[in-house]
Amino acid sequence: MSRFNDTIVGPATAPGEAGVGIVRLSGSQALEISQRFFKPKSKQRPQPWRMMFGEILEDGRTVDEALWVFMKGPKSYTAEDVVEIQCHGGGLIMKKILELCLAEGARLANPGEFTERAFLNGRIDLTQAEAVGELVHAKTDKALSMVINQLKGKLHHRILELKTEISWVLALLGASIDFPEEDVVFAHQKEIREKLESAQAGVTQLLSTAKAGQTLQEGFSLVIVGRPNVGKSSLLNGLLNQSRAIVTDIPGTTRDSISEEFQIQGVPIRLVDTAGLRQTEDQVEKLGIRRSLSELETADLMLWVVDSSDPNFELEADLEAVNAPILLVLNKQDLSTTAVELPERWKHLDPVSISAHQTESIERLKEAIFGYITGLIGPLHEESMLTNLRQEQAAQKGLGSIHQAINALESGVGEELLSLELIETLSALGEIVGETTPDEMLGQIFSNFCIGK
Ligand code: GDP
Repeated sequence: MSRFNDTIVGPATAPGEAGVGIVRLSGSQALEISQRFFKPKSKQRPQPWRMMFGEILEDGRTVDEALWVFMKGPKSYTAEDVVEIQCHGGGLIMKKILELCLAEGARLANPGEFTERAFLNGRIDLTQAEAVGELVHAKTDKALSMVINQLKGKLHHRILELKTEISWVLALLGASIDFPEEDVVFAHQKEIREKLESAQAGVTQLLSTAKAGQTLQEGFSLVIVGRPNVGKSSLLNGLLNQSRAIVTDIPGTTRDSISEEFQIQGVPIRLVDTAGLRQTEDQVEKLGIRRSLSELETADLMLWVVDSSDPNFELEADLEAVNAPILLVLNKQDLSTTAVELPERWKHLDPVSISAHQTESIERLKEAIFGYITGLIGPLHEESMLTNLRQEQAAQKGLGSIHQAINALESGVGEELLSLELIETLSALGEIVGETTPDEMLGQIFSNFCIGK
């Protein structure tokens, strides 16, 4: 049963000219509203999930020919009655159909309201709703398969398993509170401990996926820095496998930052080639250099390129002020005759020697970058992953209260205190799937969706 009385309508496809445009209605009046202006060609009675061809009529005039389908709740996207009208994709046609729906009593849907209804009507949990929002942003196959797992409910299922373990302990403690003459905690100390430790390990494992989940979703930012003419643009082109940045042997050619997206083994990467850092009087170049330094503020990794045939580590003062970790790249290996001697303060770096023009070098560098990324964010292949900060923070809260519960068990406090900690744990885990998520947070999540989703 739906929790809502009104019927909403929205464009389910992006605005603009296209082969097909879809208008979607959801709510108890969806069928009735649509039948007031959609006239099927066939005389057959409309049946759920059976598509019909017909005309959209406005004051008796044909606005478009369209396909119409009715999906009866609860077996629909929102778990309510849903009607989808597939018309020709054009701004005016879609607008007219929306207006007809509004005139017949529908209300224009808020951003994400269809998905919000699916969630509030209990058809999907919050992690699945978030997956709907995240699917369109997936940049690589790996990111896509992570979000698909979430959409299919893998994370939801994992959280339910963890909650079941905690609930089992809570039920035992409840029995103990009801029958105080039996010391249940003492009698079941070992099992309780095992369950709590298993839940603790489970939440810890989930948390270990959070960095990878967010990186697959949001991407990893890699910034190339170095003095002019060391081969930064050549490296960018090599990594992207195309000639995007201008490569010349005139120092100072890349005056502004260039940003491109690519992937290494499924990790989406935003690659920024900065203006070469050096002392200059050229005002435009100075601006570019200032922007380069600010790009570094948000970099996940900085590729510091040095010409190994003419090594120069003058950037120390600039780079030392930056927090981003450094991968030192000794370029133009083909021109270099002697090994590069690193200054004392950079001796801890483990440089990669390459020639930006050689494919083999670029592949080796990609391996080194990938090794660095997985070292930082952990495994990328888990079935259930935490994919955003909200989920991670709730899991952190859950882990904190399981720790407290284990400590409480060890110090022999009563059942009541132990129960309180476990209720906290259940609430934190429930927050991940949307059972105990505060309304403002829900509002914020769905407001980031587009209209019609
Ligand atoms: P940037 O100013 O740091 O972006 O440097 P560029 O990528 O524009 O390269 C400057 C010059 O060095 C160009 O003539 C490149 O062809 C050359 N270059 C870049 N990498 C290599 C390399 O690995 N070996 C050789 N021999 N030349 C390179």
